[in-house]
Amino acid sequence: MANFITDQTFVRENNLSYVLRLIHARAPISRAQLAVVTGLNKSTISSLVDELIVRDLVHEAGSNSSGAGRPATMLEINSHAGLIIGVELGVDFVSVAVTDFLGKIMWRKREDANPNEDQQKMIDQTSRIIKEAMAAAKKKNLGFLGMGLATPGTVDIKNGVLIFAPNLHWRNVPFGKIFSEQTKLKVFVENDANAAATAEHLFGTARQSQDFLFVFAGVGIGGGLFLNGKLYRGKNGYAGEIGHSPIMAEPSQTVCHCGNRGCWETYANQYSIIQRVQARLEVKRTSIVPKLMAEQNSPLTIPLIKQAADAGDKEAIDSFTEAGHAMGQGFAGLINIFNPEKIILGGPLSLAGEYLLPAIKETMARHSMPEIDQQAEVLLSPFGPDASLIGAIAIVADHILSLPSAVK
Ligand SMILES: [Zn+2]
Repeated sequence: MANFITDQTFVRENNLSYVLRLIHARAPISRAQLAVVTGLNKSTISSLVDELIVRDLVHEAGSNSSGAGRPATMLEINSHAGLIIGVELGVDFVSVAVTDFLGKIMWRKREDANPNEDQQKMIDQTSRIIKEAMAAAKKKNLGFLGMGLATPGTVDIKNGVLIFAPNLHWRNVPFGKIFSEQTKLKVFVENDANAAATAEHLFGTARQSQDFLFVFAGVGIGGGLFLNGKLYRGKNGYAGEIGHSPIMAEPSQTVCHCGNRGCWETYANQYSIIQRVQARLEVKRTSIVPKLMAEQNSPLTIPLIKQAADAGDKEAIDSFTEAGHAMGQGFAGLINIFNPEKIILGGPLSLAGEYLLPAIKETMARHSMPEIDQQAEVLLSPFGPDASLIGAIAIVADHILSLPSAVK
């Protein structure tokens, strides 16, 4: 008998999640439409929807009288179900945002961080911004649904521990424990590219896609693989470290932060673009980059190179194009293996997407199987450089969509 009850609870929880996900993906939608899509009978749907309404996750949003017959009451997600805090711990910055349940940003802050500073300093900086976020959120008079943290590297999501972040030189950092003690919230920790892939699926360009790849490009290159409608994690949860696939391991090649040579990301990450521009300046090519650096008293950065490219600077444009070709080689390998519907580029380098994408597409077409290439759409993330920050929000929202009864 006990097993029977457990099974019934399990089935109900699953159905509750199934219906909530459908409302999230397809709202506005009526109870009758939910019954058709799920194959569940109308009274079961009504009971499930009632529970989602009582939990404040769903509300009724007027009626639709466009079809024949009685106008149907439409359902949608209650964006005020609660607030979510998202933290993106980058290699050289920290971003924090507070959003509603649908990922709409209500407060945000980004600060540069020095990756050479010690770990505790960066954690203290993050804690301080989270405190500011929580103080700002108090004025909204809404409870918190949880906090998500996206970080580069391999993550033990069950225990909320960063296992290894090569570009930060960090190992075994228990972020979940550190920030749940500080905030008293449930804290979810996830790899930055996996988080961004989840954001594309819940809020972005891949809401209806079951097979797509997210490529995070910045200091490193990470991948989120969404296959058969689910994030693919691999045996230990570390799948998607695409930036460390070996392209060419010549002894003269730059050593990657992971300790190996010839990793894809060393040819296509943001340092590689900065190096390409530097090499051109060293041989005295004509470029407005030195003038922009002097005017703005700025080091050589991606936004500055983008600014030069926008002004028509050939050396800046060529540097992006070369890096785009290097990215395209990696993309070609990925689509040959996974045959995705979409491959989405996000993260700090997507700022220069208009210069990178044509080169990416050209190289992909040259190095992938033609039938596969024609089917894979290459897109820029609508969240651009914020893809993983919105990802940190999305992992909390995704948890609630999976376990609606965990709310209240
Ligand atoms: Zn590497």
